[in-house]
Amino acid sequence: MAKKYRIGVIEGDGIGPEIVSATLHILNHLPLDLEYIKIEAGYTYYKKSGRGIEEDFIDKVKELDAILKGPLYTPPGAIEFKSVNVLIRRELDLYANIRPFKSYRGISLRNFNIVIVRENLEDVYVGIEGEYNRTAIALRIISERETERVAEYAFKYAEDHGFKKVTVVHKANILKISDGLFRDVFFRVAKRYPNIVADEIIVDTAAYTIVKNPEKIQVLVTPNLYGDILADLLAGMVGSLGLCGSAQIGESIGVFEPVHGVAFDIAGKGIANPIGEILSAKMMLEYLGHKHGDQRLILYAKKIDEAINIVIEEKKLLTPDLGGSFKTMDIANTIIDIIKSS
Ligand code: ATP
Ligand code: MG
Repeated sequence: MAKKYRIGVIEGDGIGPEIVSATLHILNHLPLDLEYIKIEAGYTYYKKSGRGIEEDFIDKVKELDAILKGPLYTPPGAIEFKSVNVLIRRELDLYANIRPFKSYRGISLRNFNIVIVRENLEDVYVGIEGEYNRTAIALRIISERETERVAEYAFKYAEDHGFKKVTVVHKANILKISDGLFRDVFFRVAKRYPNIVADEIIVDTAAYTIVKNPEKIQVLVTPNLYGDILADLLAGMVGSLGLCGSAQIGESIGVFEPVHGVAFDIAGKGIANPIGEILSAKMMLEYLGHKHGDQRLILYAKKIDEAINIVIEEKKLLTPDLGGSFKTMDIANTIIDIIKSS
């Protein structure tokens, strides 16, 4: 009997509920055994409950196979409201952040298929800063353990998804000890994957190459900060934040969410681009498929991907962020029609 998957659903704030509901609409039309468990979280939830996320969140997660998530709002400067995104990342030990960027003909600036695998827990994001004698210092942590976990995941991802090369991004010419460690650990892990080419690139050269010759790049594995910056560069090259999905991977669970934020300016109007969320759900199916050896999930992930390509490149069904006038649900319904007729 086919396995049943238990999916936690965090609708999120702003456009979150609209794009999550469009995405679930698509998943519900696939012949897959998915059960959804709603998890209350975010700023809207905080305003009515005084909590950023449900109290029994951690217990609930133990029963889940994955979490599909919309964007969550963190108000700037409000000290009493801690970022729920950060809480989820730390509590679930989500050590790798995966962001695939694939170009669309007629929309994107160039032709590419690049995946950023970004370390997700340390680097300058540990947030340890100080000031002494009018000089400020920020701590940058690069540990062997986290580097090894993220490098291992990058190679595994490359293998599962048919990539031939993984490239480590660093600045070890200047940061000889910290980035030097990141680089060394990467090449040590690479020995376990003799069928995949291991390469390296200095972070500034990486930015240049992404713009000039993106076809030379496949999978990039990066420390946290470099990955943050290069990912936005690539999102810009794809053509809209609304077109990019992502995964955060932990030892026992993955959390799948769009790259963009809550976009309050267009919330409630039914015009948000749902593709980032739909691509995140597609990544979730791939993750579950590879983890449980379930080829059906991988097949339907592929069907979703192909349908998105047709919607954008052939049918040119574009939402306002891409200069079109189609609505969130137009995209979802057309994707369903394409999958049904495939
Ligand atoms: P946050 O504080 O969570 O980052 P934000 O409002 O800055 O929220 P971003 O996602 O960073 O949201 O997006 C910046 C702008 O890009 C939004 O104001 C919105 O106009 C546009 N945008 C982002 N995502 C989408 C989407 N899925 N569909 C359409 N437009 C989007
Ligand atoms: Mg923003």
